Amino acid sequence: MYEPQNPAKRANNFQGTEEVEIVIAPNAGACFGVVRAIKLGHQAAKRSKDETVQAFGPLVHNPKTIEELEGAGVEIVNDPDEIRDGTVILRSHGVKQEIEAEFKRRGVKVVDATCPLVKKPQRIASSLGKKGYFLILVGNSEHPEVKGVLSYFGRPDYLVTYSVKDIERVPAATKVGILAQTTIEFKVLDEIHKAALARFEEVVLYNTICDATSVRQDEATILSQKADVMVVVGGKNSSNTTKLVKICKGYQPDTYWIEDKQEINPNWFTGKKKIGITGGASTPQEYVDEVGTYIARLIESGFDMAIPNPESSPIEEAYGTD
Ligand code: SF4
Repeated sequence: MYEPQNPAKRANNFQGTEEVEIVIAPNAGACFGVVRAIKLGHQAAKRSKDETVQAFGPLVHNPKTIEELEGAGVEIVNDPDEIRDGTVILRSHGVKQEIEAEFKRRGVKVVDATCPLVKKPQRIASSLGKKGYFLILVGNSEHPEVKGVLSYFGRPDYLVTYSVKDIERVPAATKVGILAQTTIEFKVLDEIHKAALARFEEVVLYNTICDATSVRQDEATILSQKADVMVVVGGKNSSNTTKLVKICKGYQPDTYWIEDKQEINPNWFTGKKKIGITGGASTPQEYVDEVGTYIARLIESGFDMAIPNPESSPIEEAYGTD
């Protein structure tokens, strides 16, 4: 296998020692919750013998990983009514509690791949609901994690928002609990918290933003301020990758979002000296590293695709020889 002379390095900054530098953010790629969900999925498939193994919704927000799980025998099902026997794996960002209860009632074996950091807002929401708080859940109302957390809150007194302006819509004189979807930006949570403090007498804040997300966001901020071009690797359906793209674009308009190295356009790197790469928390680290190696090969070839070992070269597969 041809390896480039000047491969991509994992670092927080560009060293300025090479003519062209490719730097991958140190923590770019899968977090422990995703690694755990993928592992549980493969283990369930191995143990199943002839029983059906289904995952309710995509186990992780990364199409390539989902393909691998499907190859191992895990069927991805979006309709809970289709899950009636065998084993079901619950995705890392959680499901509504009534759906999990229904699976159990049907006698389906439940493998709970919900990340422990998603379990936390579920538990807090349940407690706030019982204590009569109005819940402000900072996040995206369409995201499965948010729907899951709301099911634990169990009452209609809530607002799901990503905008500080919505705080005006919360009824006055209520005690308010604020929770965050794990993948949001801290800045948004902070703004909403400050607006709530100015309006309500009792405000309790639970910063349930996942560290994995904020670490990746901080690293993306640092790299994209220094890079001439940024590549973000991650599923187009991944919320945390969407945030990384937004952050990178804010500092470096030449930011490209790919799910796989095959989507890379060599023209992105023409004349660029500092190439930054990051990846969402739902993207296995090896995919991110593969992108770094791929770009290094591309640059060493002088963008002419005349790369050694063409048979195993993904560049040949992607762009042909013309
Ligand atoms: S991003 Fe955070 S909350 Fe989500 S699965 Fe990973 S570790 Fe868990």
